[in-house]
Amino acid sequence: MFRKVHVRLAALCAGITIFILLVMSCGFLYISERGLRTSSFAAFQNDMDALITSLEQQTIITHEWLSRIEDNGTYLINVIDNGVPFLYNERNTPEQKRLFSAAWETCNSRLEVEPLLSAFDTWHMEYPFSSSGGTRNDYYACVITSQRNTGTFQVMVLCSMEPLLSQIRTQRLLFLGLNLLASAALALFSWYFTRQLLRPLEENQRQQNQFIASASHELRTPLAVILSCASASMRASRQEQAHFLESIQSEGLRMSRLIDDMLLLTQAGDCRWTIQKRPSEPDTLLLDTFEAFEAMAAEQSIRFHIELPEEAVPPVLCDPERIRQVLSILLHNAFSYTKKGGLVRLSLRYDGKTVRFLVADNGIGIPDEEKKKIFERFYRADQARSEKGHFGLGLCIAAEIVRAHHGRIQVSDTPGGGSTFTITL
Ligand code: ADP
Repeated sequence: MFRKVHVRLAALCAGITIFILLVMSCGFLYISERGLRTSSFAAFQNDMDALITSLEQQTIITHEWLSRIEDNGTYLINVIDNGVPFLYNERNTPEQKRLFSAAWETCNSRLEVEPLLSAFDTWHMEYPFSSSGGTRNDYYACVITSQRNTGTFQVMVLCSMEPLLSQIRTQRLLFLGLNLLASAALALFSWYFTRQLLRPLEENQRQQNQFIASASHELRTPLAVILSCASASMRASRQEQAHFLESIQSEGLRMSRLIDDMLLLTQAGDCRWTIQKRPSEPDTLLLDTFEAFEAMAAEQSIRFHIELPEEAVPPVLCDPERIRQVLSILLHNAFSYTKKGGLVRLSLRYDGKTVRFLVADNGIGIPDEEKKKIFERFYRADQARSEKGHFGLGLCIAAEIVRAHHGRIQVSDTPGGGSTFTITL
């Protein structure tokens, strides 16, 4: 399911970003091309102004002057003196002649539209035109008409737009190449970005599935015992029935505890926990917990010590009930994983800034590779070693409570063997 969502999200993300990129670059390309065309036409007009000034200074138009203008290869020139083409025009190739006749034609049709221009002694007109008669202009044309003593003198100058068109083509190709590269980069980025976006959701889904699978597994065992006890008690004697009922009750209680733990964790996951913080004295908190576990220590023949700092520890802003719950989980584990005759120590440390609660035992210890995993839901370092009533949820609940207090819970090895859990508030 996540793969499908990933592909769709990546396609959507890439589609939108590439579309925006294309619209923006097309707009930029359009503005840039317009600028190029305008400046190229303005440059042509400037050149023509200079040419007209030079023309006005010539009393006689010589072939030499005309070929000097044409020599740089940019311009083609055609002269009509009193309606008669100049001899100089005979040098033109048939293609050039066809070009000039098209240019004169467009000039005449323009003059019909703008007749006022021809009222001046010397006038000129620049315009772009298409040599093929289509819509794509490929030449700039300039018509100069001068009334002289000898009559009317007309000059047509043509300038190919090929350098400009080739510049535009190169620019378009460059844009296309850059857009393709940018689109590929955006597609890759979208793929990576959406993957990162979905990863926590995927992980969450995986954890939920695992949670449901583990919870079902844990609930199945007591349920199976209850069902078999119930069916056996139907055929059993009164005395045996009492024994079966006892088993049913104890398994029922086990199930109820497991469900309570799971509900607690679900509430923590949804941030529905109510943490009622108030200034609480950590030493009192520790002493209360110590007293509550003294009987269990005696019953299991485990030495149980408490260590309090000599100096006074200031009150801590916490929910004392929840912190007591954490200490109980840690102590319960310490007693469960420490052998008879072992030692469990409950200590309080204060360094002027933070308060630390330590639960240390010299029991079986936790291998380094397991240290991180033990805080996961339903994780038990050794399934076979864990006794009944240990569901692998205790440390997870403890970690959630400490996290809700913005504190830290860590596990390390006790010097000489065993484990030490430290809660820092
Ligand atoms: P459980 O209810 O199974 O004890 P926890 O979440 O409290 O679940 O602990 C997870 C696992 O961490 C336990 O199954 C156990 O293997 C390991 N563990 C926890 N505390 C200790 C300890 N004091 N000594 C050794 N192993 C421990």
